[in-house]
Amino acid sequence: RFLKRVCSVEAGVQAFLQVNREDALARAEEADQKIAAGAEIGILEGIPMALKDNLCTAGIKTTCGSKILENFVPPYNAEVTERLAKAGAVLIGKLNMDEFAMGSSNENSGFYPVKNPWDLERVPGGSSGGSAAAVAAREVAYSLGSDTGGSIRQPASFCGVVGLKPTYGAVSRFGLVAFASSLDQIGPLTKTVRDNAHVLNVIAGHDPKDSTSVPYSKPDYTGFMINSVQGLRIGVPKEFFAQGLNPEVEQVIRKALSTYEKMGAEIGECSLPHMEYALPVYYIIATAEASSNLARYDGVKYGFRAEAEDMIEMYKRTRAQGFGEEVKRRIMLGTYALSSGYYDAYYLKAQKVRTLIRQDFAKIFEDFDVIISPTAPTVAYKLGERSDPLAMYMGDVYTIPVNLAGLPSISVPAGFAGGLPVGLQIIGRHFDEGRLYQAAYAFE
Ligand code: GLN
Repeated sequence: RFLKRVCSVEAGVQAFLQVNREDALARAEEADQKIAAGAEIGILEGIPMALKDNLCTAGIKTTCGSKILENFVPPYNAEVTERLAKAGAVLIGKLNMDEFAMGSSNENSGFYPVKNPWDLERVPGGSSGGSAAAVAAREVAYSLGSDTGGSIRQPASFCGVVGLKPTYGAVSRFGLVAFASSLDQIGPLTKTVRDNAHVLNVIAGHDPKDSTSVPYSKPDYTGFMINSVQGLRIGVPKEFFAQGLNPEVEQVIRKALSTYEKMGAEIGECSLPHMEYALPVYYIIATAEASSNLARYDGVKYGFRAEAEDMIEMYKRTRAQGFGEEVKRRIMLGTYALSSGYYDAYYLKAQKVRTLIRQDFAKIFEDFDVIISPTAPTVAYKLGERSDPLAMYMGDVYTIPVNLAGLPSISVPAGFAGGLPVGLQIIGRHFDEGRLYQAAYAFE
């Protein structure tokens, strides 16, 4: 049924970079037989899903949305791929994305842009645009995306689905193509909050193969589907409702807050005094880490190699032809920030301000259990409408501070503005995903 749906909508939505029809059908058949035989089955047995194309799949192309990895077939699975397979998942394909996860609209895909299923003239958000659109268009039951500065939550908001960015360290990054390693996290995009908790149950938990993965006692996240927020203390940071927020989006969020109040939550204003530095800090740290991570694409070890007479020329041509414009812009920015003489002024300074932002959040969590805000300042915009990279970067102001602090955060559909979905962001303490699910479920 899902494959049929893919056939009927994919020409318009373009959420997939590849569909592995035969493998998926064989796996589904296997699941059917297991079920019919009454054998022991996984929690996700036989359920069709797809993965963002920066998650390694053994024997299946993993392009990261880039020409430079166009024909790259990883010899191993990402840890999340492995865990899903063990739980019985059926992988039906790999999902389109902004090249190397750099972007907010999917227009930076090295192949073709994804379209928003609610309006094919609009962007689905990014960089996990394919992951959000595929779930919204009912092409898969769930998907995984990655979030470095909002790439799960913002597309979830634009496409009207549920998207969780777990706490940094909760889900293994082993086999995720690195963008900015101190910010990247993998998480589920689903139709419902409960589905989301089921998928997190499978993918979360310590993995010795990722040195930043944290050993913690993982609860059963589906146990948080309690229909109550009685006494929940919700902080609303005033900086999130400042200039740039679309008034119709604001209305939807204010209405959601009053719903919470009616359900018995306590709402109070709070403040993130260093919020104005979050975007500049992010664009120093993320580009610095990206410039270092992307040094490995030299035509020797992975993917595409350009023809040339000598080695240096081969490096240059490979990178010049293989990377898209936004990726090159970021490599240059990051290389500059890490250069001798500039390191202290930019990178080190950014790391210090990052600590201040972390402390701002910690202070809020002394008085509040969760923070609520819009996920994005606007609804999905038209393709081609944001050609200025800075205007595009501004769209991530509400999601980026969360990655800088390593906190978990979920986007849940909260209503519509001008007929397009609006997402509500709920941010929690480190490893408090359960409480996010509780708050999201009660509202859903
Ligand atoms: N849009 C942000 C960027 O371009 C965040 C991307 C992400 O979370 N991967 O960097």
